[in-house]
Amino acid sequence: MTAACIIRNIIIIDGTGARSAEPQDVLIEDRHIAQIAPRVRVAEVVQEIDGTGKYLLPGFIDAHVHLRLPGTPINPASSLHEPPTLKLYRATKNMRATVKAGVTYVRDLGGIDYGAKLAVERGDILGPRIVPAVQAIGPTGGHTDYQTLSGYNQDSHIPGITTSPLADGPTEATVRTRELHRAGAGVIKVMGTGGVWSPRDSPDHDGFSVEELRAIVREAKNRELPVASHAQGVNGIKNSIHAGVTSIEHGYAIDQEAIELMRAKGVWLVPTLLTGLTPPTSDNVPEYARTKKLRLQKNLKHNIAMAVKADVKIAMGTDSGVVPHGNNLRELSHFVDCGMTPMEAIVAGTSRAAELLRIEDRVGSVAVGKEADLVMTDTDPEQDIGALAEAKHIRMVVQEGSIVHSS
Ligand SMILES: [Zn+2]
Repeated sequence: MTAACIIRNIIIIDGTGARSAEPQDVLIEDRHIAQIAPRVRVAEVVQEIDGTGKYLLPGFIDAHVHLRLPGTPINPASSLHEPPTLKLYRATKNMRATVKAGVTYVRDLGGIDYGAKLAVERGDILGPRIVPAVQAIGPTGGHTDYQTLSGYNQDSHIPGITTSPLADGPTEATVRTRELHRAGAGVIKVMGTGGVWSPRDSPDHDGFSVEELRAIVREAKNRELPVASHAQGVNGIKNSIHAGVTSIEHGYAIDQEAIELMRAKGVWLVPTLLTGLTPPTSDNVPEYARTKKLRLQKNLKHNIAMAVKADVKIAMGTDSGVVPHGNNLRELSHFVDCGMTPMEAIVAGTSRAAELLRIEDRVGSVAVGKEADLVMTDTDPEQDIGALAEAKHIRMVVQEGSIVHSS
């Protein structure tokens, strides 16, 4: 056993809501956190890092990203002329930006395959470790249906993804769930409502019916997979909860009744405020999307604040890919604007998100025995939560015991 790395004299904000009163030493050995104590003595140390005046947090976990999407609206006409592999090479850039921002684990809710997960785990590419949904599924004409009126589908021919994004009726929904399990999905992503970017539906439209959702949940549970439901309008939110999904993604139009149902059934909310609150001002935003977005934004903050107040289980997710990658930790300030304390926001972005991803036994907190996914910052996040979203304040990122970024 070799000593690999020790961080000396650092304040720990551990991801469960606790903060060390005095600075600690943190010994990282064999990819794991081996010791935390005021003064750790070791015979042999490869690397010693001075943490004086700095703060150590768990690596953050973003429960809702799309690593393959570029972060700006896609022009279908121009992507017609791109080789499909280019989309994947571009994704590696997005993955690097995500890690540099302090996010060491993500749930990708559609657009990247099981191979990307393996490539990160084997060290072939730098990126956050991934729980992939592989391909999101929805009904014909819904939020996974990007076929144009002339028949062009920008989502087809993505290397590694062979599952259709469409399913109609409980039987097809069942088949699609089984196909995704076969393809290596770690979560099943479904459309509980329409959305902003799909041309023909709206966030107030239902996506899958309750019967379709129930069929998916039954198959997913049988394979120990959680189900994440994109649900923005209130009726689709309730359909999803009744069908037994694990998490409501977005949840922008959530009401008190939905909140009570979620509390009763232990359903998670991933409010993706970073995307939700971004104004649709870019020239590339089509008119149909702009109108829908502005309507959604009217009560969004008020509704999510209601859920925060009611203590619904909330995990951090940003929908990065719909907005630019690498700004993930801005979500923490949005949480605080919706009524969380900075410490609660950090918990939502670390140990709670780990719980949602079912990886809490390995990561999500700074504790002995956990894998060493860590972020070092030079500003007290309890005093200035916004600083975590600024690149210059992310001084070091450790992933599975290796320093993958430092400044
Ligand atoms: Zn999304």
